[in-house]
Amino acid sequence: MPGGRRRRARSPTSRAALTEPVTGERDVLVVGAGVVGAAIARELSRFELRCTLVEAGPDVGAGTSKANTALLHTGFDAKPGTLEARLVRRGHELLAAYAPRAGIPLDRIGALLVAWSPEQLDAFPAIVERAHANGYDAIRELDVAELYRREPQLGPGAHGALEVPDEGVVCPFTTPLAFATEAVLAGCELRRNTQVTAVARRDDGGFDVQTSAGNIRTRFLVNAAGLHSDELHRMLGHETFTITPRRGELIVFDKLSRPLLDHIVLAVPTGTTKGVLVSPTVFGNLIVGPTAQDIERKDDTSSTAEGLAYLRAEGKRILPELLRHEVTAVYVGLRAATEHGDYQLTIHAPEGYACVGGIRSTGLTASMAIAEHVRAELEAAGLKLRPRAERPQARMPNIGELAPRPFEQPERIAEHASYGRIVCFCERVTLGEIRAALQSTVPPVDLDGLRRRTRVLMGRCQGFYCGAHVAALLDEGKR
Ligand SMILES: Cc1cc2nc3c(=O)[nH]c(=O)nc-3n(C[C@H](O)[C@H](O)[C@H](O)COP(=O)(O)OP(=O)(O)OC[C@H]3O[C@@H](n4cnc5c(N)ncnc54)[C@H](O)[C@@H]3O)c2cc1C
Repeated sequence: MPGGRRRRARSPTSRAALTEPVTGERDVLVVGAGVVGAAIARELSRFELRCTLVEAGPDVGAGTSKANTALLHTGFDAKPGTLEARLVRRGHELLAAYAPRAGIPLDRIGALLVAWSPEQLDAFPAIVERAHANGYDAIRELDVAELYRREPQLGPGAHGALEVPDEGVVCPFTTPLAFATEAVLAGCELRRNTQVTAVARRDDGGFDVQTSAGNIRTRFLVNAAGLHSDELHRMLGHETFTITPRRGELIVFDKLSRPLLDHIVLAVPTGTTKGVLVSPTVFGNLIVGPTAQDIERKDDTSSTAEGLAYLRAEGKRILPELLRHEVTAVYVGLRAATEHGDYQLTIHAPEGYACVGGIRSTGLTASMAIAEHVRAELEAAGLKLRPRAERPQARMPNIGELAPRPFEQPERIAEHASYGRIVCFCERVTLGEIRAALQSTVPPVDLDGLRRRTRVLMGRCQGFYCGAHVAALLDEGKR
């Protein structure tokens, strides 16, 4: 059983706690519509199943999944032999193949892991050895001259670098939305604003699940509740891990800084953190981050003066010209860290319960592999899987800078004039894109959701100019 020790299950919430009538019998209930839960729902929707995906919040991908560094990791630096190492490697393969088909912006720009001291240079052989142990052989050492030839704007004092050519950057917003869209198109029920509040095991197998929006009866239950996965795990009587949120702060620099860098510049990892990186994004910005600080509250996504000062200092050291550019935004994501060194992914076959917790800092990359793994384990636990005759495929609107956006496509504008009417000038988002998002399979219900689907309000003015207009369009679209 991967993912740590299993202790005896305590009695779950008693049945008497569920007072409302139980409605809607399902084969599988997936709790949490982050990138992991959405990927699992998509994977299961390939089969003739009655599947429901519930999300406590108003939208898909609006938890940790929207606030990360958005790297497509190769897993070269993962701890060999862990489930995380295996699933990150497989996830890289799956997402790299899926993204172009689904319209998810992905750029395999490669990473340079830079040594800034002789001690860090001494760590290179062990890092290369670990990469090889993880099945990644393309890693290679660059000397200082080659490093500065590749990245002339890097700060002084580098001693050498390791090139990891298959690392990439991916869109963190489109990915969970693509998964959820395909799941819904294939018949999976998506219930937002539906928080699981209690669970009772049924004598005849399966669960009665109490939610903030009514009760659901299901045969199999998948816990993909991110930062709250330990709480749901406890509701089911298991006490094998505790989530301690690990805050990661990031700074987004203006698009004019983008030409400063061609690769992701990684730090030599320490025992506790991967360190601060500087990276391009698929939206044409540069980011610096993340910090790593254990905190108490699972909803504390505030930034700190110390964290931002530290990131600015690191940014200046790594890429001195960067600090001459304006900051567009800062954001904070909370990693679901646990006391264990691996994902807390356990299948409790007799109960029909899959715990997919503690997916800390690699879940975007590993999501499709986690889904594949959970599907196989649930099948082994007795879930009958009959492939659907038809499998709808989603093609998501492009919100990255790697392919032409609608405002750059005369044919599209000729067909629908609204694609020639720009609403958000910073990010060049058109009326056509906003309307299409509002009519999509999984439409946004708030400004943040519209932002993640179109890039509106994400630019240098942060909605100062177009905020009121966009809010009116959202209201109109909801009517
Ligand atoms: C700073 C930072 C940088 C990172 N960088 C990278 C990176 O470069 N590459 C990478 O691959 N990964 C990265 N990650 C990790 C990645 O973002 C996470 O592993 C991933 O988003 C986890 O997804 P999730 O679906 O498990 O969690 P979430 O996105 O948090 O989703 C869980 C969902 O469950 C819902 N929920 C919780 N409780 C309940 C309940 N009781 N009922 C119903 N719904 C519930 C929540 O509302 C939430 O929407 C980073 C993370 C951070 C914080």
